[in-house]
Amino acid sequence: MRIISRAPAVQALSLRWKRAGIKVGFVPTMGYLHEGHLSLVRTARRHIGKKGKVVVSIYVNPTQFGPTEDLAKYPRDLKRDLELCRETGVDLVFTPGDSDMYPGKAERNYSTYVVEEKLSQTMEGTARPVHFRGVTTVVAKLFNLVLPDVAVFGQKDFQQAAIIRRMVCDLNFPVKIIVAPTLRERDGLAMSSRNKYLLGDLRRQATVLWCALKIAKTIVDKSKSVPAADLKSDLKKLIQIEPDAKLDYVEFFDPKTLLPVASVKPGTHMALAVYIGRTRLIDNARL
Ligand code: AMP
Repeated sequence: MRIISRAPAVQALSLRWKRAGIKVGFVPTMGYLHEGHLSLVRTARRHIGKKGKVVVSIYVNPTQFGPTEDLAKYPRDLKRDLELCRETGVDLVFTPGDSDMYPGKAERNYSTYVVEEKLSQTMEGTARPVHFRGVTTVVAKLFNLVLPDVAVFGQKDFQQAAIIRRMVCDLNFPVKIIVAPTLRERDGLAMSSRNKYLLGDLRRQATVLWCALKIAKTIVDKSKSVPAADLKSDLKKLIQIEPDAKLDYVEFFDPKTLLPVASVKPGTHMALAVYIGRTRLIDNARL
C-alpha cells in the first residue's frame, strides 16, 4: 500500500495508471475510519475488480466547517486509519495537508470554489451555510488529483451524495458515482467518526435518531399519507424526551429533488439532525 501526501505526486501516479488502462476506485474520507468507511472501500473494489486500484483520501477539509464547528477537535488517528486501509486492501492512501489542498490560502492566493446552487439550499445547507461549498470544492479537487473511474459515497450523507452526483453531471466529470448503504451499530445508531464523543449515557440517547426514523416509517406505513407538519411535531416531542437531545431539523422530502413535501407517503425520504450533548449527528432513510 502506498501513502502519498503531495498533490502533484498523487496526480502523476493517477495519470500513469490511467495511461496504463488501470481502473481507479476512489473513497474520499475525513479519516478516523470505521466499518462504514471500509464498506465503501469494499464496494469500490467490487466495481473496479482485482486489477484496479482503490484509493482512499484522508483529509479533514477546513473549508466545509463553519467558524463555530468542530474542525479543531475532529477526531484523528492516522496510524490506525492506515492499518485499517492496509487490512482492507487499499492500494493508495492520499493524506494531503492544507498546504497541498489549498496552497496560498493563508496568503489569500486561493480563490476558486465550486458551488452547487439548488440541492444545497435545504437541510444541511441551511444548518451549515458554508458546508457544501467546501464539500463540492474539495471533492472536485480530489477528482482532479485522483482521476477516478468510480467514486463511492455513503447514503449516510444523503444530501451530500445527491449534490456530488449533480456536480459530476453539471461539470462533466468522467466519474461514476456509487452511493452505498449506511452501516449501523447493533442498536441502529449510524456509524460515524463523531460517535467517539458520545460518552456515558449520551451513547444510549443517540439511538433516538434511529428510533425517530423507525417510528416515522411505522406511522407512514399505517396511514399511507401524513401531513409533514404533524409528523414533525410528533418526532420533535419524541426527541425531546431524551435529556441531552436537541432537534436541529427534521425534514421530509422527495429523494430526487430534495424538495420538502407537505404530505409524507411511503417512498418519501426523511432526514434529521440532532444534537446529543454537543455532538451533532445526522441520519436519514426512505420511509
Ligand atoms: P466522512 O469521513 O464522515 O467524511 O465520510 C466519508 C464517506 O463515508 C462519506 O461518503 C460518508 O457518507 C461515508 N460514511 C460515513 N458514515 C457511514 C456509514 N455509517 N455507512 C456508510 N458510509 C458512511
